[in-house]
Amino acid sequence: MAASGDSVLVVGGGQAAAQLVVSLRLGGHEGRITLVGDEDEPPYQRPPLSKQYLAGELGRERLLLRKAAYYESRDVELRLGRRVLSIDRAGHCAVLDGGEQLGYDRLVLATGSILRRLDVPGADLPGIHYLRSLADADRLQEELGAGRRVVVVGGGYIGLEVAATAAKAGADVAVLEAEERVMSRVLSAPLAEWLTDLHRQSGVHVRVGEQVRGFTGQERVEAVETGNGPLPADAVLVGIGVLPAADLARECGLGENDGILTDEYCRTEDESVLAAGDCARTINTALGAAVRLESVQNAVDHGQVAASVILGDPRPYSSIPWFWSDQFHVKLQIAGLARPEDETVLRGDPSAGAFAAFRLREGRLTAVEAVSSPRDFMMGKKLIAARAAPDPARLMDESVALTDLIQSRHGIPTLHGPDP
Ligand code: ADP
Repeated sequence: MAASGDSVLVVGGGQAAAQLVVSLRLGGHEGRITLVGDEDEPPYQRPPLSKQYLAGELGRERLLLRKAAYYESRDVELRLGRRVLSIDRAGHCAVLDGGEQLGYDRLVLATGSILRRLDVPGADLPGIHYLRSLADADRLQEELGAGRRVVVVGGGYIGLEVAATAAKAGADVAVLEAEERVMSRVLSAPLAEWLTDLHRQSGVHVRVGEQVRGFTGQERVEAVETGNGPLPADAVLVGIGVLPAADLARECGLGENDGILTDEYCRTEDESVLAAGDCARTINTALGAAVRLESVQNAVDHGQVAASVILGDPRPYSSIPWFWSDQFHVKLQIAGLARPEDETVLRGDPSAGAFAAFRLREGRLTAVEAVSSPRDFMMGKKLIAARAAPDPARLMDESVALTDLIQSRHGIPTLHGPDP
């Protein structure tokens, strides 16, 4: 393959970067591969940082996606604890901190996302934490323990997962969410309410519609100032979302708009530069839209797509997005992308602790949100991929199998085989 000798420079050391490198070598890429990442560890899994790793149930070494020896044996050069400061696209080279220049034939921006920070008085006090990196998780872990008063700002994925982990560790936990319900970016109202009840029943104080005005304390944080007065805190975790890390792309003149713009092959407007993972806004052919997502699956998909391009056998990005979260004993699985105004149809009994919410727009299924209900999740994902427009009455009727709801555009059931 003509492209197999290209030298590839990967900026970023997360899941997308790791997948890219692995796929390149598996696909027979023979050219030089260099990965520059500003963290000290080889690429690792982030999802356990708010869950099993934070709870002390999973060791550090188990987080690594590949051991350091893997990269050595595959002749992948890791430059860890280093940053790319700028990119000279005309000269096909990147400048690292310290001034070193690295040339490339193909550059892959897998820079991930950066934390949104709270800009209120006292936000720099010790004891106020954010969670994105392993180092963040290590610092946060020291703060959790029986009897500690932990205030979580933001009731999204990170906030609720940390709240559950901290509560299980015996901490006295409060969640302050600015919107009227938790996880409003991704969940329907019934699911959000159910999840809020789960947290409350587990001892977490969930307060919605709550604005944080600031933090106070002498040596370190002692209280969170809210619209309803001060809330005592021994430690604070802020989880209010992330922004795409697109500075490098912007500064070298690549198009970006809440994410580095790419086609369905993760290619930017510069044919030598690709973008993958959280930092990229990429056309998804299954959705017929450009999307920027923060998920493991998205990073893995992009890593594979970008590798396929470099290997000279381009495969478009075309999977139905999915996400998951573990909170207490519950596994939440979401497939598809709903908008807040999409209709919600429940299947199963929420009081039984296993059920799903199906989301519909103009009759078509857009997403499924499943609580400890993996079958509904799997089938929902298939229905979304089939662009199904199921009858809501049948969708909520558990005696109707979800497989029977896949219909063609003309309302005729899709036949999987000849008539018996
Ligand atoms: P993350 O990955 O950090 O969990 P999400 O987008 O899933 O990001 O969740 C962030 C949550 O934080 C959302 O529910 C959002 O409404 C909430 N939020 C954003 N800003 C504030 C704020 N200033 N105070 C409290 N909650 C906030």
